[in-house]
Amino acid sequence: MNQDIEKILVTQDELAQISKKLGEQITKDYVGKKLLIVGILKGSIYFLTDLSRNIDLPCCIDFIQASSYGSDTVSSGNIEIIKDISKDLSGFDVLLVEDILDTGRTLKHIHDMLIKRNPESIAIVTLLDKPSRREADIYADYVGVDVPNAFVVGYGLDYNQFYRNLPYIGILSQSKIEQN
Ligand code: 5GP
Repeated sequence: MNQDIEKILVTQDELAQISKKLGEQITKDYVGKKLLIVGILKGSIYFLTDLSRNIDLPCCIDFIQASSYGSDTVSSGNIEIIKDISKDLSGFDVLLVEDILDTGRTLKHIHDMLIKRNPESIAIVTLLDKPSRREADIYADYVGVDVPNAFVVGYGLDYNQFYRNLPYIGILSQSKIEQN
């Protein structure tokens, strides 16, 4: 285990099981639909990669990037779109893929922006959910696992852009957060 990690919350095996289970459910739910999977950069990349390989349907993949966390561990609340997807979503059933649903401000902003482009539908899948932290009126249609109110890294999630490549989800030790 990486020495900066206090505790592993979701193991590599558990992550694989989550993608398999959610992928199978999404496959059932989206038969016959025009599926567009939209990953929210950068945190969702590992989850999207594993999840999409468990979705046994034709689909398109795109990415959107919003800034919500800077170098800190607390959401700024000012959401800015850094990279957008195609403007025309008509006919598409959009599946937004998020790494972690925290206050929900980022997803609410993206969801409300995309709904104005008249997609057939929009649903949300999040790997991790911190329900105790929710502020915005938004929920995920598919949730991998609930996590406690702690700052987690790995499997795409970062702290100051580091730790994304850890193959598991772990709690970053408080001493590492205070050092920066
Ligand atoms: P929200 O807008 O829901 O408060 O924040 C969502 C974004 O904040 C996530 O996509 C993620 O990038 C970041 N975030 C929220 N909680 C955590 C956390 O515990 N660890 C990491 N690394 N990022 C987080």
